[in-house]
Amino acid sequence: MVIVMNVGASEKQVDNVTRKLEAQGFAVHRSTGVQHTILGAVGAQVVDTRDYEVLDGVKEVIRITQPYKLASRHFKPEGTVIRIGEVEIGGREVVVMAGPCTIENFEQSDRIAASVKRAGAKIIRGGAFKPRTSPYSFQGHGVEGLKQLRAAADKHGLLVVSEVMEPCQLGPAEPYIDIIQVGARNMQNFGLLRDLGQLRKPVLLKRGMAATISDLLLSAEYIMSEGNQQVILCERGIRTFETHTRNTLDISAIPVVHNLSHLPIIVDPSHAVGIRDKVPPVSRAAIAAGADGLIIEVHHDPDNAICDGAQSLYLEQFAQLMDELRLIAQAIGRTMQAAA
Ligand code: PEP
Ligand code: MN
Repeated sequence: MVIVMNVGASEKQVDNVTRKLEAQGFAVHRSTGVQHTILGAVGAQVVDTRDYEVLDGVKEVIRITQPYKLASRHFKPEGTVIRIGEVEIGGREVVVMAGPCTIENFEQSDRIAASVKRAGAKIIRGGAFKPRTSPYSFQGHGVEGLKQLRAAADKHGLLVVSEVMEPCQLGPAEPYIDIIQVGARNMQNFGLLRDLGQLRKPVLLKRGMAATISDLLLSAEYIMSEGNQQVILCERGIRTFETHTRNTLDISAIPVVHNLSHLPIIVDPSHAVGIRDKVPPVSRAAIAAGADGLIIEVHHDPDNAICDGAQSLYLEQFAQLMDELRLIAQAIGRTMQAAA
C-alpha cells in the first residue's frame, strides 16, 4: 500500500500516518518527491484503506497489487537517479560502461581504459570473479585483478563496475568497485541480494536468462527491502528458441520496466547477441528505445582475449559506435558525454 500525502503536508501529519502504519505492523519506507511525500507500507496485512484516507494530510491511498512495492513506480512516480561522484544514471544523460569481459592484467586494463574514456565512456567494466558455464574455464583473477582494474580506472578518471558472485567475496572486493554487478546466473541468489541490500553502494542487477520482468523486479525488491535503494537494472538477453544469437535481446523490456518501476535500466548488447557485428545495431536500438545506458564488452585485442573475444568490439569500432549513439541520444532528447 502506498499513501500519498497532500502537497505541503506537515511533518506531524506524516508522523501520525507513519505511526499508525507501524502500529499495524507495516514497515514504512518514506520517499520525499518534488511535490508529495509518499509512504510505502510493506507488509501482508489486510487493512481498510478508508482508515488512512480520513487521516489529516492524506491525499490518496493506493493498494499496490504488484508483488514488488519499493521497486514500483507507484511508490516513486519520478524516476530514480543514481549518483556516483559526478556520474548520474537514470537522468537525462545516457551513460556507457565499457571494458573487457575479464581483467587480464594492468596493461590490458590501462589500454582499454584510455581508449574507452576518450570515446566518452564513464565507467569501465571487467570481471574478476567470472561465472563460467564450465568449472574448467578461466574463473577470473579475483581481488588481484580488481586492483589492476581500479588502478587503470583511477588513472583515466573512470568508475568501476564489476561482478561479485558470492557473499564471501563482497568484503574483499567492495573497496575496489563503484557499482557491484550481480550476474544473470545470480539474479536469484537471494542471500547475495540481501547482503547487497545492507550496503550503501549501487548494484547493477542483470536479468536472469529465464527470468520474467516481474522476477527481475522482485530480485531488485530483495535488495531494496534491506535498505539499499540504489539498484540499476540490466536487460542482457533471455533464452528463447532462436539459435542465431547467444540470447535474444528483449528490447521491449526497456519501456515495460520504465512503466512498472522508477529504477534505471541499461542494456548489455554483448552478452545478448554474443557476436561482435551484431553489437552496434542492437546498441543503437537500445538507446532509441529509451535505455538509460549500456554496458559493452570492448578489448584492444579481441582475437587473443581470455574470454568473450568474439563478442568484444575493437577499440576503434567502439569509438565509432559512440559517435552514432550520441546522434540517437540527441534525437530523443537525451545527452551523452562527448568524445575527447
Ligand atoms: C558479464 O557481464 O561479465 C556476464 C557474465 O554477464 P551475464 O551475467 O549477463 O551473463
Ligand atoms: Mn563476457
